[in-house]
Amino acid sequence: MGRLICLSNRLPLGPTPSGGLVVALADTLTERGGVWIGTSDTLVETPENRFTEIEGGPFRRLAFDLSPEEQASYYHGYANSVLWPLFHGRTDLLDIRGDYLAGYKAVNRRLAKMLLQVLKPDDRIWVHDFHLLPLAHDLRVLGAQNRMGFFLHTPFPTPLALQALPNGPELCAWLAHYELVGLQSERDVRNCMDAMVQIGGATELAGGFIHLEPRQLRIAAFPIAIDAAEFRTLAEEQVTKLPEGLVKPNRRLMIGVDRLDYTKGVPQRFRAFGEFLERHEDWHRLVSLIQISPPTREGVPAYDDIRQETEHLSGQINGTFADITWTPIRFINRPIPREVLAGLYRAADIALVTPLMDGMNLVAKEFVAAQDPEDPGVLILSQFAGASEQLVDALTVNPHDPEQMATAMMTALAMPLAERQRRHEGMMQLLLKKDVHWWSKGFLTALG
Ligand code: UDP
Repeated sequence: MGRLICLSNRLPLGPTPSGGLVVALADTLTERGGVWIGTSDTLVETPENRFTEIEGGPFRRLAFDLSPEEQASYYHGYANSVLWPLFHGRTDLLDIRGDYLAGYKAVNRRLAKMLLQVLKPDDRIWVHDFHLLPLAHDLRVLGAQNRMGFFLHTPFPTPLALQALPNGPELCAWLAHYELVGLQSERDVRNCMDAMVQIGGATELAGGFIHLEPRQLRIAAFPIAIDAAEFRTLAEEQVTKLPEGLVKPNRRLMIGVDRLDYTKGVPQRFRAFGEFLERHEDWHRLVSLIQISPPTREGVPAYDDIRQETEHLSGQINGTFADITWTPIRFINRPIPREVLAGLYRAADIALVTPLMDGMNLVAKEFVAAQDPEDPGVLILSQFAGASEQLVDALTVNPHDPEQMATAMMTALAMPLAERQRRHEGMMQLLLKKDVHWWSKGFLTALG
């Protein structure tokens, strides 16, 4: 059988993978073998048009360099300032520029040429995420006949939102060069189908297929997942290593873990927590929130804004409510290793996973997997996270509504043990069955 070649923007170079895509793909490739191709973390004035093998690790890794100009137009530009906001319903943040699109296409074309040099006819190609949408098109232009699948880790925009993209029809045409397009949720499948028909000019066929020249392709949901059994074991071990005094008797801990991204709803969450404290003076000093938010995509203006807004809000809430023995919000702007997070999730009573829009959200799944089934915590989950289609036993909230979120916090704190156990059991069963191996196997079987 041919090799499995996975491509994503970034190749994981460090010892501990973080980020939803990286964690899931590392698990998949460790289990089944294959090659992972992506950018290195160095910028080079004139990058060479060839891959460099990264030594070590449980699977093969091939890296290529970007130039500073490519990084600016392809990555910060078209990927992060056009596609990311568009796909998350933030058309107000779009920064449409011709040179961004040109740079994006050029990097994809260059990658296709490099890939062609190492490609064998029976290799299967699995392209990941919005950075590399045109790759199949570019490979087909060069004559590649391989089976190619695409998985989008973000939401797919509504046809209305996609109308804001000047090259919306071209984006649909890129997708038509894959045999399979995988999405996170049924919501995204519906949006993608509708967009392909309304903007791309495709015809919808039965069974999740569409026809758009040059081929028929399938569009289906493959909700990304974690290795829930492994994560549960990790959490059991790690909770014993947490610093003493982190969780005091009779005190409750809420946790939020999100890259500091405007899609994650952290300001809205802080406001809701402020609303909760406003309403429930009896809970003062008894409950606190740890929010872990490593910076991300620094240099893109919208990310500087979100940092200022969250720092301001946490400062304001702490200023209003804190006393000498209690700080309501601990706001941590550094990445925390995933294994430490596992212990923290298990120690926490409530997780606040309240993105305004999210493809899946693996933190929600990790939190559930980490719980002690005898005394599980409660997940408060946004209706706009892809995970909410699967985790129906969470307390589902509208992240735009601080009053509803504050009420959910109170409901979670007061929830009887039997109900917590019942909700956790339902979600854990699902996570054990539909784990990361189920996800990759499902996609690769469908790809054929
Ligand atoms: N994560 C981590 N350290 C941090 C913050 C996050 O290891 O400080 C991990 C987290 O455990 C999860 C992933 O990064 O596995 C985030 O995935 P998610 O799908 O929630 O969001 P994304 O960052 O992909 O939008």
